Amino acid sequence: MNDSVPYLDLRAQLRPLRAEIEAAIARVLDECAFCLGPEVAAFEREFASFLGARHCIGLNSGTSALHVAMRLLDIGPGDEVITTPFTFVATSWAITYVGARPVYVDIREETFNIDPEQVARAVTPRTKAVLAVHLYGQPCDIDALLEICRSHNIALVEDAAQAHGARYRGKYVGTLGGIGCFSFYPTKNLAACGEGGALVTDDDALAARARALRDHGSTRRYYHDELGYNYRMEAIQAAVLRVKLKHLAAWNAARQRVAQRYTELLADTPLRLPRQVPGTECAWHLYVVRHPRRDELRQHLESRGIGCALHYPLPLHLQKAYAQLGYKPGDFPVAEKAARECLCLPMYPELTDEQIERVAQVIKEFFAKHGHS
Ligand SMILES: *Cc1c(COP(=O)(O)O)cnc(C)c1O
Repeated sequence: MNDSVPYLDLRAQLRPLRAEIEAAIARVLDECAFCLGPEVAAFEREFASFLGARHCIGLNSGTSALHVAMRLLDIGPGDEVITTPFTFVATSWAITYVGARPVYVDIREETFNIDPEQVARAVTPRTKAVLAVHLYGQPCDIDALLEICRSHNIALVEDAAQAHGARYRGKYVGTLGGIGCFSFYPTKNLAACGEGGALVTDDDALAARARALRDHGSTRRYYHDELGYNYRMEAIQAAVLRVKLKHLAAWNAARQRVAQRYTELLADTPLRLPRQVPGTECAWHLYVVRHPRRDELRQHLESRGIGCALHYPLPLHLQKAYAQLGYKPGDFPVAEKAARECLCLPMYPELTDEQIERVAQVIKEFFAKHGHS
């Protein structure tokens, strides 16, 4: 009997869609329009309509979406962007790519998301934007962030790379702050068979400029109005995403079920479990538990064939690449503690009850053996 549980199982998602995805890719081969073109335009319409956004601009990665967002806001050298140190590094790269300074503030212990009170205190005359991340699929405290941004006349950009389909007071994240950025990297809730990303906005002028920026800064071929990039989405990825988008809501519901089951089974362990904030619908990109003896627990799980992962072991203010920013250990104690204590359990829509029970059983075995401290 094989009772190991993989951390992720991308094959399980692909298997039932294989024929439909192959047909979608074949259609692109027939059309021979490989970069942008009708498939990308159709995906953009469908994803915008799913979210209730006016515009979606298909890109080649989530990192590109964040970079384009910074360009759309004319952020550059001398400017500051307030963001979280507890995220994937790409959030922060976007700020650095345009020559601005990432200004980190600590997160809230309960949600792992940026703490609006700390954001308010970090605003200076150089602040151009707040770049908030809906980490693990959990929506940020958008109302509080919007109030701060409005009162200081600064922009709110959402990094929704982990939160496709998450909702805040009934509205999809990515549509709440003015500019939303998505990634379709293969491990995300909505995933390409390769790289992909998108920027969404309700603003017509921003959308038109984003379309130009992703295509070398041109609206007319070989005429370049400003410095641009090759950030175009590929038609094959758009075709794959169109197939998968139809399943996103059901997949997120399945993730919600997995999360609920974990929460029931682990309730009487010493683990600190993730909780959904009232008024929000989490996309459950990851199911992340906390314990001071995280490293031992991780070893125990892995030795018994249970996959797990650390998102993220080192906060951004302590990364070597950001040494020049001058932060030091102790600057963001909540994020640093989260980095030491967080453990991501297997989480994907296809996890079976037996697999979830097996994970819980192995965790309980750990605490039975090592005591509850
Ligand atoms: C995945 C991710 C990104 C980057 O997306 P790519 O498509 O890999 O470039 C940015 N921010 C967060 C929070 C992510 O999880």
